Amino acid sequence: MEQLLTLRELLQHEIDDLYSAEEQIIEALPKMVEAASSPQLKSALKNHLIITRKQKNRLDEVRKLLESQPKANTGLMEKIFGSNTKCKGTEGLVKEAEHIMKQTEEDNSVKDAAIIAAAQKIEHYEISGYGTARAFAMQLGLSEVEKLLTETLNEEHEADNELNGLALFGVNVEAAQHTGLPE
Ligand code: FE
Ligand code: FE
Ligand code: ZN
Repeated sequence: MEQLLTLRELLQHEIDDLYSAEEQIIEALPKMVEAASSPQLKSALKNHLIITRKQKNRLDEVRKLLESQPKANTGLMEKIFGSNTKCKGTEGLVKEAEHIMKQTEEDNSVKDAAIIAAAQKIEHYEISGYGTARAFAMQLGLSEVEKLLTETLNEEHEADNELNGLALFGVNVEAAQHTGLPE
């Protein structure tokens, strides 16, 4: 297993992990948009898909900034093929999302509540990853990287807050009125 010897290498790893996370989220969001019933929830998720594509591009910029100071022990394969880091956390969260959407198929508003729950788990994972990466960048004096990561971190917080609002003032209220019994 490749060893990470410096905080800078650990930062690089976190960036690779986040890159994989954003790629997987870009794949997953359209299915969640499709499954959502509330028009506000659909549009919030669609909007976050557009933002997520921008976040992936922002990570390309971060990678370029980090490349200008090459790390000590990049392997030849990695030099040729780039990172092969797959974010297992996001992989698991996406699987959970797919599973809970199937389990709640019978009731649209309960399904919407489940979609928000799954989406917020993903947002919280991202907030944690970006928060840590930004702290590393700050410690290393990489102010451009820090700035880019802050932009994304703020967007993830905004997405999370919007989902909170949709749940508390709409989707959960509606879902609570459904008894699960035939009417
Ligand atoms: Fe994101
Ligand atoms: Fe991860
Ligand atoms: Zn996000």
